[in-house]
This record gives sequence, structure tokens and C-alpha cells, in this order.
Amino acid sequence: MQVPMGGPGEFVVVATPIGNLEDLSPRARAVLASADVVYCEDTRRTRVLFSAFGLTPRGRLRSLREHNEMTESVEVVERVASGAVVALVSDAGTPGISDPGRRVVAAVAEAGLRVTTTPGPSAVVAALSVSGLDTERFVMEGFVPRRGGDRRTRFAQWATEARTIVFYESPQRLVATLGELAAMFGDRRVVVARELTKLHEELVRGSLREVAGHWAEGEVRGEVVVVLEGAVPAAIPETAVREALERHLVAGETVRDAVSAVADELRVAHRIAYDVALQIRSERGA
Ligand code: SAM
Repeated sequence: MQVPMGGPGEFVVVATPIGNLEDLSPRARAVLASADVVYCEDTRRTRVLFSAFGLTPRGRLRSLREHNEMTESVEVVERVASGAVVALVSDAGTPGISDPGRRVVAAVAEAGLRVTTTPGPSAVVAALSVSGLDTERFVMEGFVPRRGGDRRTRFAQWATEARTIVFYESPQRLVATLGELAAMFGDRRVVVARELTKLHEELVRGSLREVAGHWAEGEVRGEVVVVLEGAVPAAIPETAVREALERHLVAGETVRDAVSAVADELRVAHRIAYDVALQIRSERGA
């Protein structure tokens, strides 16, 4: 557990809107108004955000990018240790999520100093939440490799990935990527979330084959997140479901708990596990 060293110093990871400015939380605004220093990716973009909220940078903005993250981390730790409130924003969404920030967070936490957040928008979670696909278990793949063997390997791994897969894609590559994926897993469901929270927000749902054809003629504009259904697991033999259920029932679990545990363990439908449990119960004459 993190033990704060005391004193007012803290490092605050501040989520900012992914399009609609009204998504900046009042807490986020308050932190940006009062922080001693605000690290950001692009000082010009952050100035625009500040001015939209009537905030004044007052020389507090500092740039944090991948290439200077390690060196700036040392400075952030010193500032926080000396009692400063240091905030971190990215160009949009939640810092550290396919954006700089992870290393600074690790450095501040390792120094035993307080790290906190004003949570809020993130394109990954926003897209997943409106996808209607399984949200219980998902994997975030960031930006997929642009070309070559790495790209093929990544897509091949998804043949057996049962969790919902979320990734970012550039609008220029979206159609090609959907085409490649359709050739591999044409029937899987996919949702493309474009321009979330903005004027031209669009959610395109369907099988990969259908969605790949959606923009076939035209140009894709704006920012996109792709949410792809995971691989449907191979049919689990009934004997495996039975064995697992018996193990849970012998341990004294109720039918309901055993069904739920086995459905999670083997990733079979509750209904299937429940039917087998009923059979076991009738065989036992219970
Ligand atoms: N840290 C950010 C977050 O938490 O949302 C993500 C940063 S990543 C560098 C930027 C990518 O997020 C874009 O290329 C796009 O794939 C996705 N993205 C950002 N805003 C979006 C929006 N409004 N609608 C759809 N996708 C968006």
C-alpha cells in the first residue's frame, strides 16, 4: 500500500475531454486552476483548454513527452516532495493510456509520494461502454502495428483471444485494417466508434464483413476506436462441465454458486452449466 510521506505535495493525473468540452469535471478544473505546475503533451493545446475554462497558465505549463519523461520524472518527484501539487494532462482523455504519464506515475509512487486522479473521459472505456459487446473481460491493444510481420502476428493472436479486443486505429488505415480482419474473422462482431462526444459521433456495428464495407467508397474522417468481439471458445465437452460442477458441489457449494463458478472458469453459458447441474441433482435423487 502506498504510504504518503505527509505534507501537501501530490501528483494528480487529470483526465480531460476527448471531444466535448463539457466533459471536463469540476474537480479536474479546480485542480488545473490551483496546481503549482501542470505537465502536458502540447503546451499550445493545453493553453486552448485553459482558455476555454477561463484558466490562466501563469507560466505553470511544462511539456512532458515520451522522450523527456524519464528526465522530467526526477523533477516531478522533487517538486512533489517539496510540497507542490503537480498535475498531468494529455492532449485528450486520460494521461498514461496510450499517452505519456506511466513512467512519472511510477517514479512518484516509488518515491512514496501521493499519486491521485480526477478520473474522466478515455476513448477506450467510452467506446467499450457503448459497444454492446462483452465488457466483463477485455484487452486493450493500443495502436496496432502499422505493417509487416508484427501486424500479422498481432492479428493471428486474436484468433484465440476470447476477451473483447479494443484498439485505436488511424482513420487512414481503418478500412484496410477492417478488410484484413474480415478476411481472417469475417463473422465476428465489431463496433467502430468514431468521433465520440463530438458533432459527427458515429457508431457502426455489425459483422467485420459488413462494417468493412461501410466506408468502402468514402474517406474516413476523425478519430476512431475499434471494439472487436473475442473468439468464440471451442465447445466445451459436457464431461468437463460435469467434472467441474461435481468438484464445486462436493466442496459444499450451492447449485447456484457452483453454476456461476463453472460458467466463469470454463467460459460456458450459465444456462448450459445449470442444465448439467440439474442432471447431476436428479441422478443423485436430490
Ligand atoms: N489517452 C487517450 C484517452 O484516454 O482517450 C487516448 C490517447 S491516443 C494517443 C488517441 C487515440 O484515441 C486516437 O487516435 C483515437 O484512436 C482515440 N480517440 C481519442 N478521442 C477519440 C474520440 N473522440 N472518438 C474516437 N476515438 C478517439
